[in-house]
Amino acid sequence: MTMTKAEIRDHALQLGFDLVGFTTIAPPPHAGEFRRWLDAGFHGEIQYLARRAAERANPSQLLPGAKSIIVVGMNYGTTGTKHLARYAAGHVDYHKWMGAKLAALAKFIGDAIGYVDTGPILERDLAQRAGLGWIGKHTNVISQQFGNWIFLGEILTTLDLPPDEPAREYCGTCRRCIDACPTQAIVAPYQLDARRCISYLTIELKGSIPVEFRPAIGNRIFGCDDCLAVCPWNRFAKLVIPPRPLPPLPEMLAWDDCQFADYFRDTPIYRLKRRGWLRNICVVLGNSGDWKVLPALHQALNDVEPLVREHAAWAIEEMTFTSTRCRAGEHHHGRPCR
Ligand code: SF4
Repeated sequence: MTMTKAEIRDHALQLGFDLVGFTTIAPPPHAGEFRRWLDAGFHGEIQYLARRAAERANPSQLLPGAKSIIVVGMNYGTTGTKHLARYAAGHVDYHKWMGAKLAALAKFIGDAIGYVDTGPILERDLAQRAGLGWIGKHTNVISQQFGNWIFLGEILTTLDLPPDEPAREYCGTCRRCIDACPTQAIVAPYQLDARRCISYLTIELKGSIPVEFRPAIGNRIFGCDDCLAVCPWNRFAKLVIPPRPLPPLPEMLAWDDCQFADYFRDTPIYRLKRRGWLRNICVVLGNSGDWKVLPALHQALNDVEPLVREHAAWAIEEMTFTSTRCRAGEHHHGRPCR
């Protein structure tokens, strides 16, 4: 069956995708840099990145006879919410709804296979090569139409489709994202040390959060958008998804597994599990300087999870320590007293 780019693009737009681009199955241009990034250990504990590195460097291994890759983008702009990264602030898990739309597009095309961002694909590289946007100095893709708020998905197909023009890069001399990062995780333009990134620390890291980074986490429970939010290209962003309000943090600190699952089952937060969510709440409460949250933290000292107990103890100590030092007029972690 033959199918044209125009037919595929039209169908993708009908399905609700905002951006559609086409590229070849050739290895992504930054496959070598990706290998060196892994070798430097910048990925920390994100083992799935290293596990299928060969396929990431050579997508033709994923589908025998594949000739083209269709890259789609979906705008997820929200007005933002103080505790969550914007992509997680809505009511649904984007992996699910985008995965369903990709499956529908792959079915329409025929001999094709679709991936959302958990697939073994260097998707940002391919998105730039397919013309959707460029990789900014913060290492994420920026669209001229939607700014920094886009999900990406890819479809590999055996169809031989003419590639689109790669996107040009428009960062210029700007370095706002590098300067805005609370933990200096962007160690050089286009180079992220994920082990310092608050998204990594609050989502990918399963165990104890290193104490040195806890104060910088501030009020973020799930991810961080600071490097994306300061980007001047967001002036073109379109805000479409209303954020979902969260219950009070001390209340959630007393939740059991069922209450956590009931509230977050259909959201990206569900993968954090109760123990990770409560761990992060403890850090945020410890940073809050709000003495009213102390009873909830003391209660969490009896939590079934050692991880939660440890972070609750840190939070209590942090508040006490901060208060003592504030009374002494000292600065705390190099920042003014709260
Ligand atoms: S903030 Fe500036 S340097 Fe960073 S991605 Fe945006 S345009 Fe590029």
